[in-house]
Amino acid sequence: MKTAAEYEESLRKLNLKVYLQGELVENPVDHPIIRPSMNSVKMTYALAEKSEYQELMTATSHLTGKKVNRFCHLHQSTDDLVKKVKMQRLLGQKTAACFQRCVGMDAINACDSVTFEMDQKLGTNYHERFNKFLLQMQEEDWTVDGAMTDPKGDRGLAPSQQADPDLYVHVVEKREDGIVVRGAKAHQTGAINSHWILVMPTISMGEADADYAVSFVAPADAEGIYYIYGRQSCDTRKLEGGTIDVGNSQFGGHEALMVFDDVFIPWENVFMCGEYEFSGALVERFAGYHRQSYGGCKVGVGDVLIGATALAADFNGVAKATHIKDKLIEMMHLNETLYACGIACSAEGNKTASGNYLINMLLANVCKQNVTRLPYEIARLAQDIAGGLMVTMPSEKDLRNPEIGKVVEKYFVGVSSVPTEDRMRILRLIENLTLGTAAVGYLTESMHGAGSPQAQRIMISRQGNLAQKKELAKAIARIETK
Ligand code: SF4
Ligand code: FE
Repeated sequence: MKTAAEYEESLRKLNLKVYLQGELVENPVDHPIIRPSMNSVKMTYALAEKSEYQELMTATSHLTGKKVNRFCHLHQSTDDLVKKVKMQRLLGQKTAACFQRCVGMDAINACDSVTFEMDQKLGTNYHERFNKFLLQMQEEDWTVDGAMTDPKGDRGLAPSQQADPDLYVHVVEKREDGIVVRGAKAHQTGAINSHWILVMPTISMGEADADYAVSFVAPADAEGIYYIYGRQSCDTRKLEGGTIDVGNSQFGGHEALMVFDDVFIPWENVFMCGEYEFSGALVERFAGYHRQSYGGCKVGVGDVLIGATALAADFNGVAKATHIKDKLIEMMHLNETLYACGIACSAEGNKTASGNYLINMLLANVCKQNVTRLPYEIARLAQDIAGGLMVTMPSEKDLRNPEIGKVVEKYFVGVSSVPTEDRMRILRLIENLTLGTAAVGYLTESMHGAGSPQAQRIMISRQGNLAQKKELAKAIARIETK
């Protein structure tokens, strides 16, 4: 396994082509806007080095029997699925941000069972290729970006019907030695902090879309791949150099547009090419795993937000008020509800044909559906308790100013035992999480990441088994008509 320092060094060796605010970034690792997101991924390596976190952060490879980082592991039991959620909660608590590495873990777990089932049915050899990649990924302890979401153009049209054929990633050339792909993947979490990319189709495809039913891996710095970095609210505060106004100066997340400009992929790295009837299974399983993931990471971030809110109440001198206590209880209740969903879909998981474990899909979708709602209520309560000062407070530069700094200190104090600076820090953290850069991960990503709410409702309607429920009711009511 890589140490945290080795991870950072390995990123420096990559030759990524990244555009940020219209300019090519020379050194993404040290760029002040990107760096906090790198620190979050780095934490997935740092915690794996610590003896007290071994149980959650590492696992035993089913391929080699060696110890590997859990982010490179295929779940071998429901216990592994539960530990995954617990690990994500822990990392959410330590970073209060998106630590990005889960998408690759969810992608390998989906690819494992789907490539196996494809080979069984069609006589292809995708599973063997996939296993070769997985072995390397585990040995090198790579961070892999699971890339699913295409730009999608007109949502009412299939990939092959779009005015521009590149709005979904597709094969433009099949050669003896491999394929050439073109298109883009949008909202790519952690792309700039990844060693490799695992591309999957984004929707279930029909025969006319066979060229779009493509899955493969590529080095993140492969010829023809480039990235356009996504903006986050308040992101330029990171360029000011202070540590208060940013709310969370150490950690963050990022998303980027990933462009494939005629990228060559050798056959050994191709896991699906034209088998459109399996694209739906790959999408559903990846989404299922990632919906489970949110029952861990968002809960960990929720823990930090609840803690920050309780501190804000302490600093304001209102911690004993009954309604404040009750609101904090409500926040914990909502947060633990999400956790309960994450654990439930893990504990109810099942073995797939390839041998790894899949979550309970119905419960994973219920988990994610709750994630689209409850963090907003938790954030609302946090803002209620924090008060308006959270958004009207002067800046760190004002606090540091030799003339007006004293005035800021004097008038923005809460309880006299707590320095004004500490109060500002906690309010800025709440701002960061509920409407600043981290709200991207805590709120909007909770809404749209791993599929927007309607996608879960479709899955719930498919898997909820309403017919069986009607039969139960008929039996109890003694209705015998069919
Ligand atoms: Fe992991 Fe959560 Fe970020 Fe997804 S949103 S990559 S589950 S931390
Ligand atoms: Fe996500």
